[in-house]
Amino acid sequence: MAPVFVLTIFIAVLCSVQGRSTGKASLERSEEDMEIDSTRTNSIEEEDFSASTLIEKANRNLGKRLDEPLVMFGDIAVNTGFMNADPCTAHTCKWPKSSNGNVYVPYVISNQYSAPRERSVIEGGLQTFAASTCVRFFPRTNQRDFVDIQSLSGCYSYVGRQKNGQVVSLNRNGCVHLSVVQHELLHALGFNHEHSRIDRDSHVQILTQNILPGMESNFDKVDTINLGTPYDYNSVMQYSRFAFSKNNQPTILPIPDNNAVIGQATQMSPMDILRINRLYKCVQVD
Ligand SMILES: [Zn+2]
Repeated sequence: MAPVFVLTIFIAVLCSVQGRSTGKASLERSEEDMEIDSTRTNSIEEEDFSASTLIEKANRNLGKRLDEPLVMFGDIAVNTGFMNADPCTAHTCKWPKSSNGNVYVPYVISNQYSAPRERSVIEGGLQTFAASTCVRFFPRTNQRDFVDIQSLSGCYSYVGRQKNGQVVSLNRNGCVHLSVVQHELLHALGFNHEHSRIDRDSHVQILTQNILPGMESNFDKVDTINLGTPYDYNSVMQYSRFAFSKNNQPTILPIPDNNAVIGQATQMSPMDILRINRLYKCVQVD
């Protein structure tokens, strides 16, 4: 429990909010591991390759570096001094829309990613947005606001557009996977976790008694705008059934069907894509 203890102190000293946040270890997987049978009920052993589990594992040691942002809700960075992660639900932190209807988001990828495979996975993840939405990530030239992709401690992102370069951390050991790239960039585009939705209590039950001490805030609700889309267990933004569990018992239980599969997404769901298109008012989707 040392990492949790260290992080709690870190947060308490920095901004006097309740101690919280972070996740766990790291692992690698191959492309064939991406194939998951979505019909089966998830057990704790079967969740190793979901975005949720990858992020939680990779964030085990988050919070040890004082030069990195405060991270809450598992993998959402917040500017020091903010009491809550800004949900950015509507417009203030959207990326601007071009006159041709596309939303251009400049990015920089750190040269820390020395392996061609790493850049390939990251750039490939960025390009998936162009395939199904009007969002176009492109290499930054001189734009003021941009996504600054670096290998820092774990996987995390701010929610929505910030001013100037905003870090999206994709640690080389554990975060360089399609699902995680999409998950963190969805945060940067303005989206929160599915289980944080304002209406989540109609779709999942949070089992507080099974949550690791200090991690309860990962399950806070956010005053989200849901864009007329239903709750989606298959969203790449849905954390797993066992997220932040202290006892291998579920922390997020789908209701009314307790056996529904949740948090196993290995890529954006059709609903994730629809939400991007609605938030950014993409007119024509290819
Ligand atoms: Zn997240």
